[in-house]
Amino acid sequence: MRIGLYGGTFNPIHMGHLRAAEEVREAMGLDLVYFIPAGTPPHKVDGELALAEHRLEMVRLATKNNPYFMISDFEVRRAERSYTIDTLRFFLSSLRQRTEWFLMMGIDAFAELDTWKAADELTTLCNLVVHTRDSGDNLGVSENALGSIKRFQYTKADDHYTNPNGRELYLVKTTYIPVSATAIRRAARLGRSIRYLVPLEVADYISRQRLYRREVTDRDQR
Ligand code: ATP
Repeated sequence: MRIGLYGGTFNPIHMGHLRAAEEVREAMGLDLVYFIPAGTPPHKVDGELALAEHRLEMVRLATKNNPYFMISDFEVRRAERSYTIDTLRFFLSSLRQRTEWFLMMGIDAFAELDTWKAADELTTLCNLVVHTRDSGDNLGVSENALGSIKRFQYTKADDHYTNPNGRELYLVKTTYIPVSATAIRRAARLGRSIRYLVPLEVADYISRQRLYRREVTDRDQR
């Protein structure tokens, strides 16, 4: 089995996440992709974070019609802060059969990998698949991302990279849909339409649950 692990805040999940995951799945021949919403993410603590159960439910709604897409509540169930390294250790120890694991992330996340807890261990435990923006230049690989390649000692091998532990790094060019969760939250807060930026069921859920609708301030209006 080849399994992808795709973590994120998913606050909310949107078409950019979904399309990237679908293209990575196809390009890498993955049998399954687990979407893993973060509990209390170490990098993002602010008032705009929807409750973990809402974010989990939105991921469930968004992925339910794709047989390759699974969800994991591992991080949202944990009382402690969730770090990717803990999630990875959990998944790696959970299945006995031979499984190849691929940790999936966007190029912006990869560029900041050095700031993640136990990042070195992470790259020795698991392969990485980084989806890059098809911007026509250099695979969309920024200076910072090149820094991560060097920092974690990946060297080029055919169509991918390997590190001294034999773990692989793949850069997969995906269609970049310029949607951001931040912009979606803002639109929802202002009562504007978010249809077609997120799956319909997710737009309905956000509207029904009145997510991201805290009082609109003068600053928001500008
Ligand atoms: P925010 O706007 O709240 O920072 P975000 O989507 O950047 O939201 P996450 O939900 O944590 O934050 O992102 C999960 C993963 O999705 C990351 O690896 C990120 O690189 C990737 N990602 C974010 N936006 C897009 C997009 N439009 N297309 C493809 N991948 C994306």
